[in-house]
Amino acid sequence: MLEINNIHKSFGENTVLDGVDLEIEKGDVVVVLGPSGSGKTTLLRCINFLEKADQGEAIFGDLHVNLNKASKKAIHTIRKRTAFVFQNYNLFNNKTALENVTEGLIIGRGMPKEKANNIARNALDKVGLSEKYSAYPVELSGGQEQRVGIARAVALNPDIILFDEPTSALDPELVGEVLEVMKTIAKEGTTMLVVTHEMSFAKDVANRVIFMDGGVVVEEGPPKEFFQHPKEERTQRFLKRVL
Ligand code: ATP
Repeated sequence: MLEINNIHKSFGENTVLDGVDLEIEKGDVVVVLGPSGSGKTTLLRCINFLEKADQGEAIFGDLHVNLNKASKKAIHTIRKRTAFVFQNYNLFNNKTALENVTEGLIIGRGMPKEKANNIARNALDKVGLSEKYSAYPVELSGGQEQRVGIARAVALNPDIILFDEPTSALDPELVGEVLEVMKTIAKEGTTMLVVTHEMSFAKDVANRVIFMDGGVVVEEGPPKEFFQHPKEERTQRFLKRVL
């Protein structure tokens, strides 16, 4: 469904992605693990054009896009087929939970307000926020804010949701509720590419784990194999540190 070939990205002298390939099938839950600074977030941002890759190609069904030289139309199409969940939620503080979810549907997709409201209410119900349609971000906990972020992504009905360390900004006691929502939508067959430091999510929910270090994919495989029998020395060292 989504194939990424040979992504390169440097910031000045700092080579962050050094030829990353990735293949994601419909219904996959792929978790990207790796030490801090290994390029995980940059990879997601390049896929969604939040960052411009120096080189690389994305194949999205019948759409072939040069990630360095994409047309406005191609960028628009890829953004329509993907949704992004940000580490810091990126909600509009002057809009209610419901309005945060409808914004992309009404403004981005040109959907009539009533239809957008219905979809947004369903999405908020799904993430357990039926009581919070009218709440502003300041009235929500971090976990609830992130669940609005997830509802916003789900409401767009994208081919794939890209999660960028969705629980990293949360107090530890709020992490569980967000992971639980992610688990629910994964079980429903949502295709997900998830950058996270949550090993339990990788073990329990992912069907594939990718380990990045130094801007390359060092190892990938099903979680059981990856965690129990890591092949590469770099992976073994990483897992020793984090488990
Ligand atoms: P973490 O797990 O700590 O979030 P990561 O694997 O997601 O790390 P990235 O956030 O992709 O890593 O960052 C990789 C490297 O790229 C880091 O050295 C970071 O400082 C650098 N970097 C990222 N974005 C920029 C930017 N906009 N300008 C300059 N350097 C950047």
